[in-house]
Amino acid sequence: ATPTAVMVATGVGANHGVLIKGGEALERAQKIQHVVFDKTGTLTQGKAAVTTAKVFTKMELGYFLTLVASAEASSEHPLARAIVDYAYHFHFFGNLPTVKDAKNHVNDAKFSEWLLDVSDFSALPGRGVQCMINRERVLVGNRRLLTENGVTIPMDAETFLVGLEESAKTGILVAYNNILTGVLGVADPLKREAAVVIEGLKKMGVQPVMVTGDNWRTAGAVAKEVGIEDVRAEVMPAGKADIIRSLQKDGSVVAMVGDGINDSPALAAADVGMAIGAGTDIAIEAADYVLMRNSLEDVITAIDLSRKTFTRIR
Ligand code: ADP
Ligand code: MG
Repeated sequence: ATPTAVMVATGVGANHGVLIKGGEALERAQKIQHVVFDKTGTLTQGKAAVTTAKVFTKMELGYFLTLVASAEASSEHPLARAIVDYAYHFHFFGNLPTVKDAKNHVNDAKFSEWLLDVSDFSALPGRGVQCMINRERVLVGNRRLLTENGVTIPMDAETFLVGLEESAKTGILVAYNNILTGVLGVADPLKREAAVVIEGLKKMGVQPVMVTGDNWRTAGAVAKEVGIEDVRAEVMPAGKADIIRSLQKDGSVVAMVGDGINDSPALAAADVGMAIGAGTDIAIEAADYVLMRNSLEDVITAIDLSRKTFTRIR
């Protein structure tokens, strides 16, 4: 392709809100064989909302929610925000919110007043959070977090958890004083265009892959809904880049699509990194492409544009 063709393609991309950082990135996109998608915030809308909360001890639901929100209040994870918003609503309105009521309350004046005192807070990437409340240890996170800390998950809680996961929800476990106290379910709906885009990629001869830190059962349910067969779940934050490199080692040209801080090493490792425009600055910086419209359709736009620019007309 001539420099003029590259310039034209860059302009066409820009008109679609596809920002391309240089001619080399534009050229590499035509050869993409695998597109690895982050799950949360990339395939899904990134609008996590709690759908259910169940207590398995004698603790009152209201107190349970306040306890969990207090533990999550200093976490910046999207799951934490969903939990805090849910608990806030219950505390101030006395009923469980619907998904429509979910709202960011962190900046409300009375936000912190109802929370319990927390000490020794730590965020454990890929696991959850840990802190001390009432001089007791509180753990909020996934199975790995609880089992690593020696908390056993009783049968009734396990059954409830599996039910959530099979319906594509993320189950969050809560332990107080090393006893499994309750479970919350969080849903994050798929982007509307996700399934159509996956089908389109397959038709173009491109293999879609999904990576996530979330558990296997939830990941599998989401992947099935969207039409992805190749799933990598329970991936630790550093593991996403390793997955990219292993696909490359097998000889593939690999694109990564992501939005989070977690995704930036993988975006940088990929042959073509594509950041969702609504994503974090770090992800946008690490990427070769920025999809400003936040639509997954632009993954196809990007590959198409490169193919049209660089494929010789026979
Ligand atoms: P991803 O962004 O790919 O979903 P993360 O590594 O951020 O993955 O999280 C992986 C899993 O760790 C989550 O699905 C959740 O089970 C657990 N987790 C992480 N942070 C929190 C948190 N603040 N509260 C509860 N669970 C968490
Ligand atoms: Mg994400």
